Amino acid sequence: MSGQDSQKTPVKPTTFRMPDGRSFYLYGDFEGAPEWPWLEGSTDRSFSHRRWHALRREWVVYSAHRQSRTYKPPADFCPFCPGVANGEVPLKDFSIAVFDNRFSSLQKDAPQPAPITGLEDLPVASAVGNCEVIIYSSDHKASMASLPLARRELLVRAWGDRIRSLLDIPEMQAVLPFENRGEEAGVTLHHPHGQIYAFSYLPPVINAMAQSFKEGFDLCALTGKKDYVVADAEHAAMLVPPFTRFPYELWVVPKRRCPSPDKLSDAEVRDVAELLARAANTYDAFFGRTCPYVMLVYAAPKGFEDVFPFHIQFQPLLRSPTKMKFVAGVEVGAGSFLVDILPETAAQHLREVEV
Ligand SMILES: [Zn+2]
Repeated sequence: MSGQDSQKTPVKPTTFRMPDGRSFYLYGDFEGAPEWPWLEGSTDRSFSHRRWHALRREWVVYSAHRQSRTYKPPADFCPFCPGVANGEVPLKDFSIAVFDNRFSSLQKDAPQPAPITGLEDLPVASAVGNCEVIIYSSDHKASMASLPLARRELLVRAWGDRIRSLLDIPEMQAVLPFENRGEEAGVTLHHPHGQIYAFSYLPPVINAMAQSFKEGFDLCALTGKKDYVVADAEHAAMLVPPFTRFPYELWVVPKRRCPSPDKLSDAEVRDVAELLARAANTYDAFFGRTCPYVMLVYAAPKGFEDVFPFHIQFQPLLRSPTKMKFVAGVEVGAGSFLVDILPETAAQHLREVEV
């Protein structure tokens, strides 16, 4: 990589503390000084815990307080729009805002739970972690793909900064930023936003990936396999992996192995930011509608920085313009995915889309 290509712009948020103890970060420009008088005296603190699922051999997190929450905003109220009374972002304008989720499933200070009466042998553990909301824009009608390139670059840098900051907390082992897009993916708030989860343990999918990378799986090499590449940039590629579980998965993979977005050069950030929009636009053009998807930002968990490459996976929930891809039956029951289209054919279809 040439000197200019390795240039890296630092990102530093302006940090605030909300009256209920939550952290609040602003990336990029903003107008105004945030105050949340409606949160003064708020002492809503409840904790989650984990229980071991002996048959699946994985932890399940229980947040009983989320089910009974009384927070029911009116239909036309968006707590993520700037300057809304009782909202989360009391500012005239902002670029990107990140704050602790008001009803977090995981907590930084979750205590060790007591054994369950009558089931003292069932392993239980504290649900130490963190859940953040990341708002991409003050514009309610924007989306990740509609943002100007510079804002999407800031989004990639903000992910990197949050991943690094959260992994600096001794208990945290892995951080997963993600976005659910569309009502079919469970979205109820339409303001463009995603979430960032930090875990004090390795969740099963991230653990499996980490083990595979440790054993030498070379994800970056896929960026050179032209049958699978849908869009090629200088420093990153958008590709269908040769082993998709969803019919039209797209992954955005930097060509250089990099553990986290905060280690990307400006040139790499630009290519990743461009391909992220390209992926969403490719789906919308291909399916002829706004495609619901889950976007997953994978960065190296603690201890796997030398082997685990940062990359982003899109799992679209459509298999045709009118057909949802439901995960059910043998996929839920056996964990065995059945796909009707070969990955190389899916790649060819997506390559033919004009965006
Ligand atoms: Zn809004």
